[in-house]
Amino acid sequence: MYNAPAMSERARVCVIHVGGTIGMVQGEHGFTPQPGFLEAYMRSMPELARPEVPRHELVVLEPLLDSADMNPDDWRRIAAVIAERYDDFDGFVVIHGTDTMAYTASALSFLLPGLGKPVILTGSQLSLADIRSDGREHLITAILLAGTAPIPEVCIYFAARLIRGNRAQKIHNQEFFAFNSGNLGPLARIGASIRITEHRVRPRPEGPLRPLAQVRRPQIAAIRIFPGIDGGMLRRFLARPIDGLILETYGNGNVPSRDASLLEALAEAAQPPNEVVVVNCSQCHGGRVDQGRYGTSAALTRAGVISGFDMTPEAALTKLYCLAGAGYAPAEIRAKMQQDLAGELTVDPLTRP
Ligand code: ASP
Repeated sequence: MYNAPAMSERARVCVIHVGGTIGMVQGEHGFTPQPGFLEAYMRSMPELARPEVPRHELVVLEPLLDSADMNPDDWRRIAAVIAERYDDFDGFVVIHGTDTMAYTASALSFLLPGLGKPVILTGSQLSLADIRSDGREHLITAILLAGTAPIPEVCIYFAARLIRGNRAQKIHNQEFFAFNSGNLGPLARIGASIRITEHRVRPRPEGPLRPLAQVRRPQIAAIRIFPGIDGGMLRRFLARPIDGLILETYGNGNVPSRDASLLEALAEAAQPPNEVVVVNCSQCHGGRVDQGRYGTSAALTRAGVISGFDMTPEAALTKLYCLAGAGYAPAEIRAKMQQDLAGELTVDPLTRP
């Protein structure tokens, strides 16, 4: 159980608004972000003016976006805002759409090595304009947690649970319980009391924040294996020079193997001169890739595909993007993809938290 400490000096939280349903209003073309709406709403909330709520400052990243419109440049912009203001705040809240929230949360965890403060992404299924909006409580709790909780991680706060950002996936587009981390229990449960699961929280790192500089825009792709896929389709997909590919496979990491052309296309991609880093992630929400457990995955190792272990495809894609963007060579990227950099994977399943 965790009780927010009585603040001797009021904590300071930087709230970064990037978009999402929470601040949208329905118009002629459906729900779209409404500039000024969230700010006005927050100003009208008596809860946020209370002395036990951390002092908070709002930064609006323009243009506000539906998160379906966000791309890796937006991850970098958010990381830069956090890095610039890092010393002035105790924590950060990022107000974001739910569609790609798991990607942004994962990317931020890789772009901000050395993070020693909470960065909490939140949003809602219903706009604050709706009387049943889930956004109101999300905003209040995210600001409280960002200012006071001893959780030096990028997290998602949604539906009464705080989960690690690079373990999260959007699992529902209707239920308020929209996010889950299939391979890691919640870092905190928020009910009548706030209960932090301390053994799951990463230790506060030594030293300063060391933002990962991005020196190039790599080409990273993901493809979901499906019955009927063949080598020809994959070759066409890989034709554009790409740096990395997330292969979303069945079950424990399996692909169709009766037709050799798929494995040949993968082997070609992994070899020089292309040296595409191909990472095997499961389509399942929980569990891990065990390359070689079945004959239908053993051939992937021979084709040069590496296991993504229990990483989500979202974490693997953003990690690949950030590492390639930082200018690492393919061999270094392959090694780092199989290391735990920010709590995104468990190399040894027996040590699972
Ligand atoms: N399309 C919206 C977005 O991701 C959905 C949401 O926020 O729930 O921005």
